[in-house]
Amino acid sequence: MTNHPLDLAGIGIGPFNLSLAAHLDAVEGVEALFFERRNAFDWHPGMMLPDVTLQTSFLKDLVSATHPSSPWSFLSFLVAKKRFYDFMNADFAAIPRREFAQYLSWAAQGLPTLRFGAGIDEVDFDGRNFILRSGKREQRARNIALGVGLKPALPAFANRLREDDHFHSSQARFRLGACAGKRVAVIGGGQSGAEILLHLLNQTDNAPSHVAWISQRPNFLPLDETPFTNELFTPPYVASFRDLPEPRRHATVEREKLAGDGVSSETLTAIYRRLYVLRHLEPSGPEVELLPHRDVVNAEPREGGYQLIMRNGMDGMMGIGHAEIVILATGYRYELPDCLAPLTGRIVIDRTGRPVPDADFAVAWDGPSANRIFALNAGLISHGIAEPQLSLMAWRGAVIANALLGRRQFDVEVPNSMVNWRSQMHTDARLDTARSNGRLFSP
Ligand SMILES: Cc1cc2nc3c(=O)[nH]c(=O)nc-3n(C[C@H](O)[C@H](O)[C@H](O)COP(=O)(O)OP(=O)(O)OC[C@H]3O[C@@H](n4cnc5c(N)ncnc54)[C@H](O)[C@@H]3O)c2cc1C
Repeated sequence: MTNHPLDLAGIGIGPFNLSLAAHLDAVEGVEALFFERRNAFDWHPGMMLPDVTLQTSFLKDLVSATHPSSPWSFLSFLVAKKRFYDFMNADFAAIPRREFAQYLSWAAQGLPTLRFGAGIDEVDFDGRNFILRSGKREQRARNIALGVGLKPALPAFANRLREDDHFHSSQARFRLGACAGKRVAVIGGGQSGAEILLHLLNQTDNAPSHVAWISQRPNFLPLDETPFTNELFTPPYVASFRDLPEPRRHATVEREKLAGDGVSSETLTAIYRRLYVLRHLEPSGPEVELLPHRDVVNAEPREGGYQLIMRNGMDGMMGIGHAEIVILATGYRYELPDCLAPLTGRIVIDRTGRPVPDADFAVAWDGPSANRIFALNAGLISHGIAEPQLSLMAWRGAVIANALLGRRQFDVEVPNSMVNWRSQMHTDARLDTARSNGRLFSP
């Protein structure tokens, strides 16, 4: 901590604020510090299961998209670790998530502006500066960058579950050992649910006796990684999305869900192949039940487990399942962090409980415009489905760095999109004019 106010204080050091720190590292004369509650960088440790892979290209690293000569790129990491040629020869279709986590930790160890073991308990504003409190220490800063990530999303029935026989997927690596010999329900048909199921199916000595994979979705649906869907994860698409009316943005995010939330086809194939082996070649393995299109509406505690009440979306019938351990792979949600309590009421919140970031990721609040609250991973509704993913983290880091500096330090000019997402006539009035002129499509 310093005695004088910083230009920027970052709260939380996940990949997103790490990218911002890596960009600012290239700029002389900026005073920024980033504070993290954990004692060292650790990327989703509870889901670091063996063999899990990155769902995005390693080129979507902290800096390459906007500052390719930065020393904090994934390629710099490979070179520094003397892995460059081995990595090329390994020719991964998707790189191990462990390797990307090692890369992020390597960058976190090298960047001088990061402070670990420094959770921020409270953020207040004295009219000129934000005041960040961490234990007994205080730090003033003109601007802050909130990079605190998302929180586990839990279904309503979760508060009926006992502490020792249920857990959210974010705890999986530390709790899966308890599944040996038990009846287990994995609730959630996204990537985390799929990875947990595969892990359980691959157990030999510690296999569960029975596994049910339950998903609300009508099938175990894949992540769409085809080129035109990948266009949704580009700055031009974000630019087209950003100024849509709010109801349209909500509807678009809902419609595009599977582009970011489906299961990678490699994981689905691995699950299917393992099921084949268990069914035809190793019938001594766990019993498996696949239950898509099921909405778990309640979990009734029973002697030694739970009765799960499910509505089947295909035939409309209600069904019952039994589990001794319930794993909630039910995703994540945004919530303003508790440390901002002194400022709540001053920050504009939308109907989903999110702040409202502008084009520079600065949220609307009633404080002076010179004091900005940048929010990372808060803009699902303002910026679209790329926001919680790694795809645009470098671009966002560069946009925020430019906004902080008040100049175009990094080139974030949006290139033309391959696709004409928006009409050239934006308003109904102009559409009416075009109709009356007998001209419905702009050239
Ligand atoms: C298991 C998993 C795998 C993923 N894999 C991919 C992938 O392959 N590709 C992709 O594009 N996206 C992926 N994502 C999505 C996204 O990339 C990650 O969630 C990413 O970690 C988000 O980064 P973040 O910086 O917003 O938050 P986080 O990584 O959650 O980091 C937030 C940090 O803030 C700290 N913090 C919180 N409050 C405070 C406080 N008050 N004071 C100090 N520190 C605080 C936390 O301790 C934490 O370290 C994955 C997500 C998960 C859950």
